[in-house]
Amino acid sequence: MKKYENGKLIKVVCNQCGKEIKTETEMIKEGICSVETDWGYFSDKDGESHKFDLCEECYDLLTRNFLVPVEISRRTELL
Ligand SMILES: [Zn+2]
Repeated sequence: MKKYENGKLIKVVCNQCGKEIKTETEMIKEGICSVETDWGYFSDKDGESHKFDLCEECYDLLTRNFLVPVEISRRTELL
């Protein structure tokens, strides 16, 4: 969960474990998985937008149980 105050990012918390993610002058300074999804007509959540953030440990815990592994590719340009 990202918390903003006057349009500025002030806090990022992992939705799963509650850990506070390191930020420095609005920059996220550690690994984070940010999910944003817009549910559509064929779901039970039509019209709802959901978002959450996971710390790297919680991301690893979640994806470790996937029957089909996460698809990994390498980006050529890193920010
Ligand atoms: Zn976490």
